[in-house]
This record gives sequence, C-alpha cells and structure tokens, in this order.
Amino acid sequence: MTIAFIGLGHMGGHMAANLVRGGHEVVGFDPVDELREAAVAHGVLAAASATAAVEGAETVVTSLPNGHVLLSVYEEVLPAAAEGTLFIDTSTTGAELAWQAAGQVDAAGHRFIDAPVSGGVVGAEAGTLTFMVGGSEADLELARPVLDPMAGRIVHCGASGNGQAAKLCNNLLLAITQVGVAEAFVLGEKLGLTNQAFYDVASTSAAQCWALQTNCPVPGPVPTSPANRDFEGGFATALMHKDLSLAMAEVERSGLDAQVGRLVSALYASLSETEHAGHDFSSIITTLR
Ligand code: NAD
Repeated sequence: MTIAFIGLGHMGGHMAANLVRGGHEVVGFDPVDELREAAVAHGVLAAASATAAVEGAETVVTSLPNGHVLLSVYEEVLPAAAEGTLFIDTSTTGAELAWQAAGQVDAAGHRFIDAPVSGGVVGAEAGTLTFMVGGSEADLELARPVLDPMAGRIVHCGASGNGQAAKLCNNLLLAITQVGVAEAFVLGEKLGLTNQAFYDVASTSAAQCWALQTNCPVPGPVPTSPANRDFEGGFATALMHKDLSLAMAEVERSGLDAQVGRLVSALYASLSETEHAGHDFSSIITTLR
C-alpha cells in the first residue's frame, strides 16, 4: 500500500520506519529537514510538502503535536487526496477535535479513524503500540494492514472520537494513580518504612497497579523504572500535562465534578513548569519530599 506519513517526530519517525519494514511504500513529510533525512535513512521517501505526500497515497497517517495542527494540515491536504482515501490520525487531540476532523474528512468525501496510541517512543520503535480506535468497523478493517506493523494491540473503542475518549480517560486514571503511589511512598518514608518493605506489601496487595509495579517512583524495587535513572526517559511530564489539559476540557464540557482529576491536573501543570518537564511524570514524587 502507498501511505503518506505526516509528522516524523519522536513517535512518527519510528512508526513510519515500521511501515516500511511492514512492506508498505511510505512517502513522508515533516517541516524539519533533519527529521525528513532521518526517515529517508529508514527507507521513507521524502516529500517536499504534506500535499505532495498525499498525492497518490491510499492512506494518510498523521502524528502531529495537537488537534489544531491536525485540522490545519487536513485543510491543506484534503483537496489533493484521491476520493475515498483513509485518514488515520494517531495524535492525541481530544474527542472534540477528533469529531471536527472526522467531519472535515467526511465532507471532503474521504474516510477517517482516530487512533491515538499508548506505549511511548519505546513502543513506537518496537512496533508494539496500543491503538485506541474510534470509527466504523469497516474503516478499521481497511486500516488494519496499516496499523498492524506499528501495533502490539488494536482496541476498537466505538464511534469517531471514542479512541481519543479512551486515551484521555486512561491517562487521567494513570496520573491519579501515579500521584497516589508517590504519596503512599513518601508517607511510608516519614513513618519509618523502607521503600522495599512498602513495595513488597503494596505490590502483593489490593493496591497493585502499573504506577507502582512498572513505573515505581523510588529507585530499587523495580530496577527498570525511570526513578532508577533520575527520571530520564519514560513518559514526559510535559506530555502528561498536555493530556490532562485535554481531559479536563472534556471534564468541564461534560459537567462531571472530577475533583481528584482537577487537583492532579493542577499538580502536573505546576510540575511541567519545572526542570522535570522533560522527565518521566513519576518525578511528581520529588515535589512531595
Ligand atoms: P513531536 O513533536 O516529536 O512530533 C510531532 C511532529 O509534527 C514534529 O516533528 C513536527 O515538526 C511535526 N509537525 C508540526 N507541524 C506540522 C505540520 N504543519 N505539517 C507536518 N508536520 C508537522 O511529538 P511526538 O512525541 O512524536 O508526539 C506526536 C503525537 O503523539 C502527539 O499528539 C503526542 O501527544 C502523541 N503521543 C506521544 C507519546 C510520546 O511518548 N511521545 C505517547 C503517546 C502519544
């Protein structure tokens, strides 16, 4: 299949490379010259513009910073696409902008699924991302050969926008549990517990969770967690802040009184203005000590 790939950043660069490995012809575009050159080294054909990438493509995949950039890219490229082209957006945009994008693509006579991802840069490189898909069953079936080389798991979450809904609900829950795990460790320290003793209890009790057992915010109990390398790598605080801002916009729109979510979102807004913006979001523990 001939695929246009727009946005060759941290995620998109690896995803485009995996599509090439999967046997597709990939024509890529990013305004940053070095990113286009890096993609070419992985077998991607570089285009001079997003529109040039889309001409002749059967599917258009995007990995862009946010939904507003997505809408402006779609405005530019939609007229250049062949009728019925499938547009797959893997950016995190929030449900509202995914609905707008779906409407824009539909009005131009094309197909759209929102397919945000989790798994981070590591999952993008390994081709093991989880895709949360919103859109029709038929469009998802068309998308599968494109998603497969990039995916570990594909979950159909329902109609357009539901992929984004799942992504935001998941990351809201994740942020809340990460803050809870941090508070429990620091309280334990203040009460004289060693981190290992608390971990041994919590990781085998009803408090088990990913934020504890994979992303453990203290060094030692889980040697692979970012806390063991001064919070380098992992899922950046700045990206968590972006996702929580989108989630809280949906909370406000829905009228839900999400008090814990609001508090955790404010904590991450503050942390994203510190030296921890580029660190893993489990670095929230440093603000508690
Ligand atoms: P990134 O900033 O590295 O990549 C985005 C790319 O889009 C950049 O290379 C930028 O030059 C390009 N771009 C900007 N405007 C453009 C335009 N008009 N036309 C074409 N390209 C344009 O970001 P990323 O970390 O790769 O994330 C991409 C998306 O995936 C975001 O929506 C992010 O929230 C989401 N996401 C990221 C992660 C992660 O761990 N990095 C995890 C899950 C989801």
